[in-house]
Amino acid sequence: HVASSGLPKPSFTVKSPNVSYTENEIKSKYTYRTTSVTRSADGGFEATPKETVYDFKVERKVPKVGMMLVGWGGNNGTTVTAGILANRRGLVWDTREGKQAANYYGSVVMGSTIKLGTDAKTGQEINIPFHDVLPMVHPNDLVIGGWDISSVNLADSMDRAAVLEPTLKSLVRKEMADMKPLPSIYYPDFIAANQEDRADNVVEGSKACWAHVEQIRKDIRDFKAKNGLDKVIVQWTANTERYADIVEGVNDTADNLLKAIKSGHEEVAPSTIFAVACILEGEPFINGSPQNTFVPGALQLAEKYGAFIGGDDFKSGQTKMKSALVDFLINAGIKLTSIASYNHLGNNDGKNLSSQRQFRSKEISKSNVVDDMVAANTVLYKENEHPDHTVVIKYMPAVGDNKRALDEYYAEIFMGGHQTISIFNVCEDSLLASPLIIDLVLIAEMMTRITWRIHGPEGPSSAEYKGFHSVLSILSYMLKAPLTPPGTPVVNALGKQRGALTNIFRACVGLEPESDMTLEHKLF
Ligand code: NAD
Repeated sequence: HVASSGLPKPSFTVKSPNVSYTENEIKSKYTYRTTSVTRSADGGFEATPKETVYDFKVERKVPKVGMMLVGWGGNNGTTVTAGILANRRGLVWDTREGKQAANYYGSVVMGSTIKLGTDAKTGQEINIPFHDVLPMVHPNDLVIGGWDISSVNLADSMDRAAVLEPTLKSLVRKEMADMKPLPSIYYPDFIAANQEDRADNVVEGSKACWAHVEQIRKDIRDFKAKNGLDKVIVQWTANTERYADIVEGVNDTADNLLKAIKSGHEEVAPSTIFAVACILEGEPFINGSPQNTFVPGALQLAEKYGAFIGGDDFKSGQTKMKSALVDFLINAGIKLTSIASYNHLGNNDGKNLSSQRQFRSKEISKSNVVDDMVAANTVLYKENEHPDHTVVIKYMPAVGDNKRALDEYYAEIFMGGHQTISIFNVCEDSLLASPLIIDLVLIAEMMTRITWRIHGPEGPSSAEYKGFHSVLSILSYMLKAPLTPPGTPVVNALGKQRGALTNIFRACVGLEPESDMTLEHKLF
């Protein structure tokens, strides 16, 4: 098998009575082992190992998939598009440092491996590309399209973004000049006033209406038909909006939200219109920005239609470091007492965030990212005790897309001592976000092809398999403020997020979670 990238694709099969392969499906019977805990009368805990057996079914046929981006003409939209074109064509270009070839660095799916197991002969680890664990779409095969309130074609908006090398741009320019974003919906109150001069490509109407939902649905259907696609994944990588107020009777339930859109209520954001359109169209929708697109009514609507949604806010730079570093510090038994995070950036995202209401969305999204790690350590922190945590973002046009993130972590160590860790993180923001956009699309798509049912002692609980919950919390690794099914815990710790992702994929082919015990090397 040769993947579309031209590289030979290593493959594997699982030899187990619990796993079967047919032309169209992989089926696995998987025992999920957890621990159920109760509080005993003496104040202690009683822990009982628990087993649940699931049948998983994976559709093997890799579909033809479209990726539609809202905010296609922005820094992320143009960068991810150029990046995919460059990879698809295997481009190599000149840079100051020499030749540079296209790659997918920064994508978990395309750039990382997982341990398959141990070599039966040598005892050495065998690792395989993450992309090959399940039959996933290759990003080179994605058909790309989308919307923007700015009419500029993708070649010119790539110049406006000022992210990529001129030599690379010249190689993709022709193809990108033919790409023009579809007109989008623009409600000026939701993004910063300083964005107004971009808005020359808008569908008529400056507040919610049903015609907007219908227009977006039609755009998706037309794009699918024109390109012969099996499915489309839509992703919001447009400007950060302000938060929508949650108003009783307006956006609190699915029915109220639909009514509010029809009656033109001012508190419905463009991103929520896109979400509703995708839910009704049955295509996954992912929110890469921090605002509360998924108001309770939108969440309820997704659940009602069994449509997949994911969000919020790409976890690319500062927060990704934070969710790894804080996990390490607190799990090392070090008492983190404060985090001061400063950012400055000079791209259009920074310009939009220089407005208070849009900054507030980002501040909320960046603020809760250590809560689960702090709450889990009942030795270091008393109930309701938190490290101090401040987030500052400033717009500094001169640095462009080269965002600076300065973080100081201050911690208490043994016997009243202190440890201060300072991090200065500089990188092109859009080059970090683009691979996440790809991962979100590939993983969300894969989840549309995985179904499950309970397998009781007497066999399967039903003939039917069903899908995962509408809210795809498996995407958490890529997201700063992960959306989870209502009432379920949010996990921010990066290691745990990756564990959930890789172990769920492993379970689908009947492999045990990676426990890292390696007893085979310890017990002779
Ligand atoms: P950008 O400002 O360059 O691009 C946003 C694009 O969205 C612009 O082209 C704008 O014209 C368009 N737009 C605004 N409102 C729209 C609407 N209603 N419909 C369609 N298009 C609309 O920003 P960017 O750097 O590409 O970032 C995009 C988003 O991703 C921002 O909200 C940002 O906060 C978020 N984000 C980025 C990163 C990162 O590392 N780059 C990380 C986390 C979140």
